[in-house]
Amino acid sequence: MSIAADAKEMQAEIARFRHELHQEPEIGLDLPRTQEKVLKALDGLPFEITLGESTTSVTAVLRGGAPGASPEKPVVLLRADMDGLPVQERTGVEFSSKLDGAMHACGHDLHTSMLAGAATLLAERRHQLAGDVVLMFQPGEEGFDGAGHMIREGVLDAAGRRADAAYGMHVFSSLEPYGQFCTKPGVMMSASDGLYVTVLGAGGHGSAPHAAKDPVTAAAEMVTALQVMITRQFNMFDPVVLTVGLLQAGTKRNVIPESARFEATIRTFSEASREKMMSAIPQLLKGIASAHGVEVDVDYRGEYPMTVTDEDETHTAENVISGMFGDSRLSRWATPISGSEDFSRVLAEVPGTFVGLSAVPRGVDHATSPFNHSPYATFDDGVLSDGAALYAELAVSRIATLAAGN
Ligand SMILES: [Zn+2]
Repeated sequence: MSIAADAKEMQAEIARFRHELHQEPEIGLDLPRTQEKVLKALDGLPFEITLGESTTSVTAVLRGGAPGASPEKPVVLLRADMDGLPVQERTGVEFSSKLDGAMHACGHDLHTSMLAGAATLLAERRHQLAGDVVLMFQPGEEGFDGAGHMIREGVLDAAGRRADAAYGMHVFSSLEPYGQFCTKPGVMMSASDGLYVTVLGAGGHGSAPHAAKDPVTAAAEMVTALQVMITRQFNMFDPVVLTVGLLQAGTKRNVIPESARFEATIRTFSEASREKMMSAIPQLLKGIASAHGVEVDVDYRGEYPMTVTDEDETHTAENVISGMFGDSRLSRWATPISGSEDFSRVLAEVPGTFVGLSAVPRGVDHATSPFNHSPYATFDDGVLSDGAALYAELAVSRIATLAAGN
């Protein structure tokens, strides 16, 4: 039977696993219960398993056993992230999170269950594989750089040789109609950086600001000046996004505080814009501070690089998707999206691609449905077997072409 047909038969099993993960979301790099569940799902399958040292990652290597395969067999890496988010679930689905303040709001429970499904599909075809498959189950995608940890611990060389190609997938609860696979060659997602600013003034009585140095007014000016800077200093055809998501100062209405602070997320789509941000922001904020006689501490922290997919590997994935599901299921994006991914770190080392998969609940309008990270974000189980089948087929077909010398 075909991989897609076999996967269809596993649909209920994959959904059951997804619901187990969904009910018990864990956050960050330490996901012991999730790791346990993944190990249970892989139990009895012929994988060589390595657990993370600095995190609860799981790396599973399947040795292809096709007769006559060369010792320098090709290696394909497949990645799923496993972490949830600090969000209080409000979807009302019957398998909702049992943990207060934690939710699989980005659909990583779907990724993990789909890759576990692919593990079974691949193990059944082990004797036809002229290469090895590395499954990368990573924690801490949501701002903890789990991929970076796994790369430092050797996931790209887990099979004993460097992976030749790498594929990741991400589900969406919005954006595209149900079941649509999305690709984009080149820059697919933005780089993401963090800005941490503290304005240092001098505290005093709210009735006598002339005798103090108010950090609140200076910080307020900085927040709006950053938006003006973006429209005046950056090329509109090389877009950037800067959002101040945290702003804190003070304890009482009539007390001028000693300091104020704010934090922002910054998204860029070119190295040039990213570098310009790093120099333009401190210049602007220091200028405003100096104009108001306060001090400012500016900490610009690089987080994830741009997600850049390989053109040839993207075509490979597009051909596999069209062949399995038909052309109508494939959307090639004209523009990148302003989300970010630490799979970018894998794609910076190994040619590969990233595939979006819409899991908008059937019958719901994708233009208005709550997006990933919303407490109402709902993902349709119906895509699970297709996602598992795609993971497996990407490995099988790419290993075949690599083994044939292409
Ligand atoms: Zn995500």
